[in-house]
Amino acid sequence: MFALSKMLMRKLHLIFICLSVIYMNAATATPNTSADKNFNAYKERFILAMWKVYPAWASSVGYHKYDDVLVVPDEASREKELAFCKANLDSLQKYPLTNLTDANKIDYHLVENQLKYAIWGIKEQKSYEWDPSGYNVSGGFADMLGNDYENIDSRLRNFYTRMASIPAYYVAAKNNIKNPTKEHTALAIEQSLGGLSVFQQDLPDALKKSHLTDKEKAKMMDRAGISVDVINSYVAWLKALKNDNPRSCRLGKELYEKKFGYEIQSGYTADAIYEKAQAHKLELHDKMYELTKQLWPKYCAGKDMPAHKLKAIRQMIDALSVNHVQPDSFQSAIEHQLPELVAFIKNKNLIYIDPSKPLVVRKEPDYMAGVAGASINAPGPYDKNGNTYYNVGSLAGWSKEKAESYLREYNHYIMQILNIHEAIPGHYTQLVYANRSPSIIKSILGNNAMIEGWAVYTERMMLENGYDGDRGVNSTEASPEMWLMYYKWNLRSTCNTILDNSVHTRNMTKEEAMNLLVNEAFQQQAEAEGKWRRVSVTQVQLCCYFTGYTEIYDLRNELKDKMKSSFNLKDFHEHFLGYGSAPVKYIRQMMLQEKK
Ligand code: ZN
Ligand code: ZN
Repeated sequence: MFALSKMLMRKLHLIFICLSVIYMNAATATPNTSADKNFNAYKERFILAMWKVYPAWASSVGYHKYDDVLVVPDEASREKELAFCKANLDSLQKYPLTNLTDANKIDYHLVENQLKYAIWGIKEQKSYEWDPSGYNVSGGFADMLGNDYENIDSRLRNFYTRMASIPAYYVAAKNNIKNPTKEHTALAIEQSLGGLSVFQQDLPDALKKSHLTDKEKAKMMDRAGISVDVINSYVAWLKALKNDNPRSCRLGKELYEKKFGYEIQSGYTADAIYEKAQAHKLELHDKMYELTKQLWPKYCAGKDMPAHKLKAIRQMIDALSVNHVQPDSFQSAIEHQLPELVAFIKNKNLIYIDPSKPLVVRKEPDYMAGVAGASINAPGPYDKNGNTYYNVGSLAGWSKEKAESYLREYNHYIMQILNIHEAIPGHYTQLVYANRSPSIIKSILGNNAMIEGWAVYTERMMLENGYDGDRGVNSTEASPEMWLMYYKWNLRSTCNTILDNSVHTRNMTKEEAMNLLVNEAFQQQAEAEGKWRRVSVTQVQLCCYFTGYTEIYDLRNELKDKMKSSFNLKDFHEHFLGYGSAPVKYIRQMMLQEKK
């Protein structure tokens, strides 16, 4: 596998989660009115037209008709994209919202948001000028070799045709780039070099497995050689680029607020969420300190507790973190927990878990290797027969030190929270529900803040209901150890939001960021360094966890207040998930409407 950056892997992780088996059921969704029937037909046309404009995106979700096309990112392609967006914003006007079912109203909003976001990207954000890492062809080519959706020979022929545009692609890239940020330039150099192995190793390996003639193989290797030269010269060009006034990697308040609006689609503004995160951080510290005082005699008897609150909490976290599994039982420990989670949820009546859709745990496939941890891998909307897997990383071959540090991070307590988040009742359960209200739009343009927010919400919900792996299905109260570790975990998404907003709109320095992550969120230095790197090359995405979680939690409280004794948690969960991967603000509107 070529050197995928961690960031790219996270991106992939998100894609895996967003995509679901929704499409296969599309025919069974019966439209309520002729307005809905017309709108459903429009949605189908819209997606097919969209794939023509974004063939790389199409390939990445399993629609392979345009695999041989590589869009050259020049002015003409941006004009074409703008024309597509404007034409479809016009088309949307033909489907008045009031005539549509709730499910279609949400789809309408998602389409409209996508089109406006794309126009804004071209006209205002203009990252094609300042982010050289946006130009990288390797990932798409790697996918063609790594996934066996078609026989290898036809995939290779598409690969060959697609390579023909690589020289023009990088000419356009160089024409677009103006005063790029230093951080994105460095990332572009690293990732471009990392991607070369697709042409130098993966391609020849694939050719060996193919039935192409020697002549065809030679032609392909020639073109691959040209591609490698072109990418190398792009890297050399970036290294030599005279860039006296590089743009700051901080997005700035104005662009940030807009991007937050399009990306998160929250009922709150970026600043309102920032304020909430700041307040939440202080609340978490208070709770953690109380637990630390309570646990101190049990774990640190005889030692003086530091006078400094945050230092005392840190020592307690360290003391609890040594409770972890051995490297070779990481996967089996995860596997054993899943049925326990299901039994607990059933016993407590928290949400219906469909027994006909058990989750398959597997060792992560080779192309994901090196990124330990766990993630849900769901088939795309066009992959009708695909399974959903719970990929679990193996620590085989890791040095003792690296494995120990990793296992302390994913210790006995955090591992349980990870399972709740990724699997049950987090991402996996959400997927199962999303698949019941099939929508090609939601499977492709689904809202990430809702998806991540749900997973983060369920962590707290499970603990509030007493979940604790050590205390069995009848547990009514999680242990103080569980709670303390949960709060540490929750601090991560809380501080992600504070960090992202502060770096991009408040000039937070690296030193201040490190203080936030290491001293206030109790992270390891290496994790904090990685996060600093990530925040300097991404914007807004780090807010999706806390924002979605906050909105869901607030909605639950709002409904509880309104419904008083008729509020039922199981009902709330099933009803909420029934809307699919939609922005929470629209689900809120619809749920409140119903309870009026
Ligand atoms: Zn240990
Ligand atoms: Zn997640």
